[in-house]
Amino acid sequence: GSGGHGKADLQRARMRLSLQEHLWAFFHEKVAIPSEEQAVARRAALDICAELRVFIHAKLPDMPLREMFLSGSLYDDLQVVTADHAQLMVPMILEKNLWSSIPGEDTIMNIPGFWLVRRENLEYFPRGSSYWDRCMVGGYLSPKSVLEVFEKLVAGSINWPAIGSVLDYVIRPVVPSETLSLEVQYDTDRHLFVDFLPLLVMEDGVSLIAKPHRLAADRHENLWRQSFRVAETTKLRALDQEDGGCRCACLKVIKAVCKLNPALARLNASQQTNAILLLSEQERDWTQEALADRFLHLLRALVGHLEAGRLPCTLNPKVNLLCELTEQEIDELGYTLYCALSDPESLMRT
Ligand code: GDP
Repeated sequence: GSGGHGKADLQRARMRLSLQEHLWAFFHEKVAIPSEEQAVARRAALDICAELRVFIHAKLPDMPLREMFLSGSLYDDLQVVTADHAQLMVPMILEKNLWSSIPGEDTIMNIPGFWLVRRENLEYFPRGSSYWDRCMVGGYLSPKSVLEVFEKLVAGSINWPAIGSVLDYVIRPVVPSETLSLEVQYDTDRHLFVDFLPLLVMEDGVSLIAKPHRLAADRHENLWRQSFRVAETTKLRALDQEDGGCRCACLKVIKAVCKLNPALARLNASQQTNAILLLSEQERDWTQEALADRFLHLLRALVGHLEAGRLPCTLNPKVNLLCELTEQEIDELGYTLYCALSDPESLMRT
């Protein structure tokens, strides 16, 4: 009867309360990075960025680049657990009349969210007219070849030990690595990874980065990845600002959970952010008191997306953010999260 119902409600409420307490305790103890630690890491990344600017300007004055800049969660206050990584964006300048972008869905690969960048007007402006023609493969600008140019430069011709000793860091290129990155030891036990991310900003405002498709078969090699990061993060932050919500806190908690649980390491910031943005379309209450409810909701939503094999990007629903995971990885992620639904606190015991 209603008595039993009341009791169950009460029990559920108690469980929620303790999950709520757990989540905020976890947030303050594990997730949030002390601002001092963030500042030191940002400083190290900035020092290195400055050195690279000087070096590249001196060594390759005709390479058409805009000013490099640092970005990523360390700069949006969305990094969690330890301040250990940042991206160095390297914006490349392409001549508008010589290069055009083709969305992945209009190509034989049919992958929304990835693009080809095609060389145009070769008959009037022969090979060599554009600096970046040296990275052209089969008529397209190859992100792999672009990365190789930077790799030669960064890993091959910069005297990092010398720069490091001047700056009082230990710096070394990470080889081999999926992306081009530098490892910076800026304290006895603190390491920062700085990834190089060549960036193209196309005429229609589309941002493309030289980060290869994870399941890169040869035929994917020429694909540039569209980046939605700035728009996603801005949207999430704006929603929180409107209602004083806990979406960013919820994102940081799930990021920390995934960073600390190897079985969940494959879930990235973009997938997590979009899952929360999708949830925000259904759910109004994001008050701080609702964190536990929303977190459980998020876990259920992720399980649902994994079961369906589909997590649409809110900025372009044609993009499936799970498309770079294998079926087995999707199953494993789904299973781990499904098990966590009945004991969410287990996710914080690491
Ligand atoms: P975190 O790595 O989980 O802390 O989350 P971030 O929000 O910093 O995401 C960084 C990841 O997003 C890296 O793997 C990048 O390669 C990728 N990424 C995609 N687009 C961008 C972009 O425009 N800027 C940066 N900084 N990273 C991007």
